[in-house]
Amino acid sequence: MKQRLTVLGSTGSIGTSTLDVVARHPERYEVFALSAATQVDLMLAQCAQFTPRFAVMASAPHARQLEEKLRQSGLATHVLHEADALETIASHPDVDAVMAAIVGAAGLAPCLAAARTGKRLLLANKEALVVGGGLFMQTVREGGATLLPIDSEHSAIFQCLPEDPTTWPDRVDSILLTASGGPFRQRDPATLSQITPEQACAHPNFSMGRKISVDSATMMNKALEVIEARWLFDLAPDQIKVVIHPQQIIHSMVQFKDSSILAQLGTPDMRVPIAVGLAWPERIASGASRLDFSALSALAFEDADAIRFPGLHLSWQALKAAEGTTAVLNAANEVAVGQFLSGRLRFDHIHAVNLATLDAVSPSKPDSLAALLDLDAQSRRAAEQAAGLLAA
Ligand code: NAD
Ligand code: MG
Repeated sequence: MKQRLTVLGSTGSIGTSTLDVVARHPERYEVFALSAATQVDLMLAQCAQFTPRFAVMASAPHARQLEEKLRQSGLATHVLHEADALETIASHPDVDAVMAAIVGAAGLAPCLAAARTGKRLLLANKEALVVGGGLFMQTVREGGATLLPIDSEHSAIFQCLPEDPTTWPDRVDSILLTASGGPFRQRDPATLSQITPEQACAHPNFSMGRKISVDSATMMNKALEVIEARWLFDLAPDQIKVVIHPQQIIHSMVQFKDSSILAQLGTPDMRVPIAVGLAWPERIASGASRLDFSALSALAFEDADAIRFPGLHLSWQALKAAEGTTAVLNAANEVAVGQFLSGRLRFDHIHAVNLATLDAVSPSKPDSLAALLDLDAQSRRAAEQAAGLLAA
């Protein structure tokens, strides 16, 4: 039986890499639905190649444009755009697996819908877990979903851990998330204020969406990943450590109680963790090139510089504060990065907005999707206010 797949965010970096892997295995996977925000032409091309039953666009005008072009091309894909369309394609009874590759808290509701209905949930959308935390994991458990990490570090940890999660607490001492250090690892911290969006989006090893590229440059991406790891692997905050490894050959490591360390290695190519998630526990070709050890001169490691990367430590702080604080941090960061990308906020002010928002909003434990979305909206308002004061 083929696995029927919904790809949320199919026109993005992870979405297109997912379809690249899927296209290599037509005997295993069938695309049931695709979703995008605004990229009508790329969505049309994806519909022509994969003939999904549904395509979701984020707005009515984009949906109408796509409908018209599908009709002209003689394609039968049905277009949806209503508020609950993403939840519909994530939880449809004919769907086996959902790739969650929307960026930001916008992906939370469809992730919860897939979790509630017991899907195989391939999670790239780390923000959904950072926002949803306990409720997300509870929904996965209660829905009987299979949650598979796609973030390369978390896929690495998942591959290094024993298969039976009930053995983890007795065996695992800590995990080490590796980080590239981004494009500004060696830049003079005094010049961080002058960084442009184009410089921040030029990642040394990966071509990624613009939001995660900026997060990698500030290391807020690693902060979000620390929070993501806490929930995925049920760890205490202090069991999660970060080490800078600029080559990104080791994708992360698990340290066991006896001091033995297991690492997962490979060329930096997101098609590897995507293929792991799609096929687990089987293994399939991903299209990624093999690691050439004869061409590897060195694997280097260093500590993260707290002055250059002040945001990294907010993750442990937020995890130790009231539940809901990570949702506040995520919302602040989404607003700050958005404003930086549109030229309204300085690069080094992203951290200032995050700090100010954490100060301004005191969350109570969010116990429903509605409560999380309220907290997200409240935090976004506080972040916009903080950003406005900095820009003035
Ligand atoms: P991207 O910006 O390239 O793609 C985002 C996708 O989501 C696009 O298809 C876009 O149309 C859609 N989208 C954006 N906003 C939306 C909204 N409000 N409603 C509906 N759809 C929306 O981003 P990406 O780099 O592919 O990252 C996607 C997710 O995967 C992020 O959470 C990111 O942190 C995570 N991730 C990415 C990488 C990577 O290498 N790119 C690695 C690890 C994790
Ligand atoms: Mg990552």
